Amino acid sequence: MARIATLRSRLVWTLALAALAACSEQPSPAPEAVAAGDTPPSGMTVFQGARIIVGDGTVIENAVFTVGADNRFGLVGTAAAVQLPSGAPVVDLSGLTVMPAIVDSHTHLSRDRAGLTADLKHRAYFGVSAAMSLGQDNGPDVYAMRREIIPGHALYRTAGRGFTAPEPGRSDVPYWITTAEEGRAGVREQAALGVDIIKVWVDDRLGQYPKLAPELYGAVIEEAHAAGLRTIAHEYYLADAKELVRRGIDAFAHGVREPIDDEFVAMLKERPSFVVVPNMPDRGVATDLGWLSPALPADELAQLQAAAVDRPQAQAFFGIQARNLDRLAREGVKIALGTDGNVPWGPHLEMADMVASGMTPAQVLVAATRNAAELMRLTDAGTIAPGKSASFIVLEANPLDDITNTRRIRDVYLRGERIDRSAY
Ligand SMILES: [Zn+2]
Repeated sequence: MARIATLRSRLVWTLALAALAACSEQPSPAPEAVAAGDTPPSGMTVFQGARIIVGDGTVIENAVFTVGADNRFGLVGTAAAVQLPSGAPVVDLSGLTVMPAIVDSHTHLSRDRAGLTADLKHRAYFGVSAAMSLGQDNGPDVYAMRREIIPGHALYRTAGRGFTAPEPGRSDVPYWITTAEEGRAGVREQAALGVDIIKVWVDDRLGQYPKLAPELYGAVIEEAHAAGLRTIAHEYYLADAKELVRRGIDAFAHGVREPIDDEFVAMLKERPSFVVVPNMPDRGVATDLGWLSPALPADELAQLQAAAVDRPQAQAFFGIQARNLDRLAREGVKIALGTDGNVPWGPHLEMADMVASGMTPAQVLVAATRNAAELMRLTDAGTIAPGKSASFIVLEANPLDDITNTRRIRDVYLRGERIDRSAY
């Protein structure tokens, strides 16, 4: 547990701005945070000694940051730059690493209040501060919980009901549309319900169904944009991915499941705001899931572990998407983390898969924090910076050295509050 102590020394509450400015990449502190005085603002807590992974690609060693009564970050800087206030509670994080809480931009969560609440609680345990459910959500609870903040739980965002061609035998929660007007009417309905993004599926499910036609998803995209909503696609084939981009799609919820080409890369690079959520498939290699033992019943863990064996076919499928992701990341395409499905610890596996694909841990951590928050329009999440919501993870080891260190969680803070993980 982090040690909480009260600083007795009578240090003046000042901030050496010049020294802070030496961390050139850091945003400026919020104005109210730099006022000098003997006593700290009430409700402020000081966290000192940690390495901060900011979430924007920069790192601050031996850092100090404060969290105010508003549950937002106040000061963020190097310890050398900050003189601490007397009397403020201090949490000593020496030797530990702090990163922003993880944001998962592609999930499929429960649709009823009890199930969804549990999903959000389990995510909090694993350091996830927000999750977006993509297109299989309806009923009163999902639209109501979209607006709720439950203490100690991740935030919930949803695409509501997505759009696809008729797929008998598969989920009928999404709209099965056969005309452009059905698509437009559905988008207006979802917009009125307050969804966060519009989802389309363009996939023949390995030849089982006719795919949603370009004129139909084109109409959905157009109507969404008219309503101020962005659009995200489940796509599979390269040709469809290109046509979706031509028709204005804003993000992919998966990597393309075939080798990409120069034309595709050029199309994405022309659109700097475009986001790819790679959502890597199973890597197909034997893995040790022992790190989950504090969180899962032994029999459930044993089942998962038994399934985590080498599977050459899965490895080949992973390889295609890994090479695609490696190239997109090297070309500077914006990547955000998403896991698909409803696995609360999924982000930790996904981050390792992204590194296995060739991304650096630093790039992956940006994808899992700032970029995913941006995709979800969580303007106050995703980085450790003045004014941002104080949702962060305290890690026992540095994930920049080994991405699986994101699993070595000492503490999780959501919106300024430390959660009691032992009670989860
Ligand atoms: Zn999905």
